Amino acid sequence: MAHIIDGKRIAAEIRETLRQDVQWLREQHGWVPGLAVVIVGNDPASKVYVRMKRQACEAAGIASFHYELPGDIQERDLLNLIHRLNADPGVHGILTQLPLPSHISERAILEAISPFKDVDGFHPYNVGMLSIGEPLFAPCTPFGVMELLRVEGIDLKSKHVVVVGRSNIVGKPMAMLMLAAHATVTVCHSRSQDLPGLVRSADVVVAAVGRPRMIQGDWIKEGAVVVDVGTNRLSDGSLCGDVDFVTAAERASYITPSPGGVGPMTIAMLLKNTVKSARREYGLSLQVG
Ligand code: NDP
Repeated sequence: MAHIIDGKRIAAEIRETLRQDVQWLREQHGWVPGLAVVIVGNDPASKVYVRMKRQACEAAGIASFHYELPGDIQERDLLNLIHRLNADPGVHGILTQLPLPSHISERAILEAISPFKDVDGFHPYNVGMLSIGEPLFAPCTPFGVMELLRVEGIDLKSKHVVVVGRSNIVGKPMAMLMLAAHATVTVCHSRSQDLPGLVRSADVVVAAVGRPRMIQGDWIKEGAVVVDVGTNRLSDGSLCGDVDFVTAAERASYITPSPGGVGPMTIAMLLKNTVKSARREYGLSLQVG
């Protein structure tokens, strides 16, 4: 039976370390990191995520600036807000909750955010820095996966990592981070052939697909590490991952549950990137926590 990686506990420990660091920054230097969160429109899921981010900031002592904008806002007005936040010395991180309404170019907004305040790691500058192996801000979810594996002492060097999913926010940056950790990486997607066979060859599987329990236990090599990024809402309202947890746990050596695995790490890494950004701004060491 696999060891279950407790993302809730690990995320809580990281958040506590960050809280202490922010307290130290306030007492020693007289300032605190600040995160601006911009939400456009009334998407209920986005509102929940934004509220969680805001509460997490407050608990860590990070200043949070909240901008709730109407769904019919013009792109130009949103860009003006981003430019103001870029110039605001009290704001060290800027996050625009996605998705944006279809009349606004997500690309234009993400590119307008200063790369040095881009704590989501989505700006092309940060994507490039990650791909040359010198990340400034890594996207929070794959960064959270790396932290989980690091805390659990799982060595990735020379391991075969199979990432299922190639999105810009999870799959691709996940592959880059795994490469930087000296893993051999295979990235799969909807046109990959023989997905079960590819997954069976993995020492480490990262599932980021968005299909409930698609990855079956008999796809998992005996002793493999299984990381389930998937968060799927079922018709009864409950959540489940992309991995069939019960059967996969019988073969894996380590496994993350979903919910309670990678999910809590995303916000912890957002806070970590915000503190890192503030430290960078003030010329302090970037080692946080
Ligand atoms: P996307 O929909 O952007 O990407 C899904 C990927 O899965 C695509 O690359 C797609 O391939 C691939 N895919 C779809 N169907 C198959 C299939 N049958 N076989 C193989 N590959 C397939 O999703 P995200 O990357 O944004 O998210 C993935 C999952 O992770 C979701 O469940 C999401 O909710 C969750 N998530 C969780 C987070 C958290 O815990 N904090 C944060 C972000 C995401 P193709 O490119 O060919 O279409």
